[in-house]
Amino acid sequence: MWTLSVEGPPLSQRKPPSHSRKTPRCSPSSFLPNVLQCPSSSGKLSRDTRGKFKKKHIVLVIFPLLLLTNPIRAQTPTPSREITVIRAGTLIDGSNASPRKNQLIFVRGNRIEKLTEASAQIPTGATVIDLSSATVLPGLIDSHTHIFLWGEDPAKGGYDENILKAGIALRAARATFACRRALEQGFTTIRDLETEGAGYGDIEIKQAIEEGTIPGPRIFGATRAISTTGGYNLEGYAPELEMPKGAQLVDGPVEARKAARQQLEHGADWIKVYMTHRSWVDKQGNLVSQPTLTVEELKAIVDEAHGWQKKVACHAYNGIGLQRALDGGCDSIEHGLEITDAQIAQMAKQGTWYCPTISPYYGDWAPADTPGGKRDRARAATHEVSFKKALNAHLKIVFGTDIGGMPWTDSMAQEFKRMVGLGMAPMDAIQSATSRAAEMLDMKGEIGVIAPGAYAELIAVAGDSLKDVGELEHVRFVMQNGVVFKNEMTK
Ligand SMILES: [Zn+2]
Repeated sequence: MWTLSVEGPPLSQRKPPSHSRKTPRCSPSSFLPNVLQCPSSSGKLSRDTRGKFKKKHIVLVIFPLLLLTNPIRAQTPTPSREITVIRAGTLIDGSNASPRKNQLIFVRGNRIEKLTEASAQIPTGATVIDLSSATVLPGLIDSHTHIFLWGEDPAKGGYDENILKAGIALRAARATFACRRALEQGFTTIRDLETEGAGYGDIEIKQAIEEGTIPGPRIFGATRAISTTGGYNLEGYAPELEMPKGAQLVDGPVEARKAARQQLEHGADWIKVYMTHRSWVDKQGNLVSQPTLTVEELKAIVDEAHGWQKKVACHAYNGIGLQRALDGGCDSIEHGLEITDAQIAQMAKQGTWYCPTISPYYGDWAPADTPGGKRDRARAATHEVSFKKALNAHLKIVFGTDIGGMPWTDSMAQEFKRMVGLGMAPMDAIQSATSRAAEMLDMKGEIGVIAPGAYAELIAVAGDSLKDVGELEHVRFVMQNGVVFKNEMTK
């Protein structure tokens, strides 16, 4: 990994670009105000020094330099201090159980100032955006994404191809595309749960978004993720070969805590842990998952993360690994394909979040008569049962797609149909992607809600998303941070 020498608060708490380690000593060009002049990055390495660099090191420094040396600084949309007033025909505020009709949303800077009835006076000089024929909602939150995955086709080399053949610059370019896709679809916040071998790239991409270099959602990044020896890809190669791994592998509580510390040091907003790895169907037809970390290993990670006021997301399918995840005190269960009644009760008691990510388990099934095909069908069938149990127990459910596992050209909002199809009320499904997710992310009242004081992050759809939640697959208006990013409604 590239090593950094930094002082001060964790990267995630820094405000770019003034404290950014990636934008040193750049100043606006006197000829072109939007062009920054930066000292030559290559000038930092003498010819001799460069000569001593091994290829591996050169590859690792290219990615940050790409972000550093782009001479044309994107024009960061700066929200006007003037008032913008949005006419909302129907307002779903992300928190209330019922929609409201004919509301005015007053936006000043990057925050919502107030909401009023449509009859209220609009100040002269205000910019008015007429969405009176539309349904306006808060910007959506996807609590499980992978901007560094590309929905790799198993027939074309799958996951391994991404790590073995795609260089870090290509992966950064694809992640940039992914971020734009998320924002275009109305997702103004994502929790990105692991870079799959791309190191701390999520924190770098987040920085590029925050400084306005590329468009994208607010990112809560988990960096490298943690699993154990025998607990993550790449695998299946000759044992003599030391293969790169898609996660940071640890054995024992000391290594586990150290990995958490390293990831937190380099800006992780969340820690992602794999509590299960391989899964298969046994002779009795039961879904079985290989457990990875012990309770002691997980407890070391959770203890460390909580000390930094960060949370831990646990990938856990079922069985021993899911039980260890709960006993170790994880904050969110990812996927949770098979959750027993006792585990549902434990989640309710501990306040554990459930991020089911239903959609990916319905694609690319192997033929029914193969071991892989049996496993794929068993996963989907038991997942449906678990989701319904979680609904009945009123567990805290958040919307997550695992997109990246699916191609980024797919619809993220397709997950709403899955959730509603399994019995979730449309308003609850919307809130799982707005105020509930905001609560999990410790951003309650700031995102995922249209209310005074919240960030001005709004979307609009043409139809009634409570009658047809599929409307959310056709987001036509996106405001991010008080600035219109997309508007197909009022043209
Ligand atoms: Zn995932």
